[in-house]
Amino acid sequence: MSDEMSVLAGEDSVFGTVTVIGDAWSWLVLREAIFSGVTRFEDFRSRLGVARSTLAARLEHLVAGDVLRRGPGGAYLLSDRGADFFGCLILALTWGDRWFADDAGIPHVVTHIGCGERMSAEVRCSHCHDRVEAQAVRFESRPRPGRADSRRHRTPDLALLERERPSSVARTLQVLGEHWSALILREAFFGVRRFDDFQRGLSIATNILAQRLDRLVELGVLDRVPYQEQPLRHEYRLTRKGIDLYPVPLAMMTWGDRWLADGNPPVPLTHLPCGERFTSVLACGHCGEPISRTSVRFA
Ligand SMILES: [Zn+2]
Ligand SMILES: [Zn+2]
Repeated sequence: MSDEMSVLAGEDSVFGTVTVIGDAWSWLVLREAIFSGVTRFEDFRSRLGVARSTLAARLEHLVAGDVLRRGPGGAYLLSDRGADFFGCLILALTWGDRWFADDAGIPHVVTHIGCGERMSAEVRCSHCHDRVEAQAVRFESRPRPGRADSRRHRTPDLALLERERPSSVARTLQVLGEHWSALILREAFFGVRRFDDFQRGLSIATNILAQRLDRLVELGVLDRVPYQEQPLRHEYRLTRKGIDLYPVPLAMMTWGDRWLADGNPPVPLTHLPCGERFTSVLACGHCGEPISRTSVRFA
């Protein structure tokens, strides 16, 4: 991994994860690798319907971040940290299934082998094993603002993500798969609501921030609510749909803490109901048992 990536990871694990994984195309590359066992360039390309140059850049980025490694015959194989991204993907899949369930034709059917039910993943506290709600986790110190370099993060055309087939992961990525949107949501989960505070926290250009906030409102994840009459001012609050997304950035933070921060989380969390330092456990939403990549079956 490059020095730059380690420095970024030290600032905040969600930020580090966004940096190391990359944009929505990278998530979908990992979806194919983790859910479907894809290893070949041509297979990634035909399954995603992505341009060769785009795919080559994403694969190179994932190899540089030690998420994929090169295998015999030019194969792209999951590293340990790559395989562990399963948690982020399965939570993204669950959220997409829940909020876009009325859309027919979503092909990923994942079954928990333990209980035999269609998979819905959730995050539990490793101490008390309670299901974690967004309001029940408190951070002890705010992360230092990340120094994002937006030039290297061109926004993918999110409409293209489902070119080959519909997918709940792709739908979640409409919300979370773009660099700035992911970081804006991280700020929202840290309690930020006002434009100027987002702007300060992220050192983001005001026009880009305004555009991303509008988009998150359009997608139903944030609500634009007036908080002052004269002059009229608005703030951005997470909707129920937005709050329900919380496990995904939480899983991204967990992944970053585990793989990018040498086990020293830059932003330690406390689980309020039990009062313990929070570490997350991925569990089946039906039976509550812990799950991993090997305890689920993909149709
Ligand atoms: Zn707990
Ligand atoms: Zn289960």
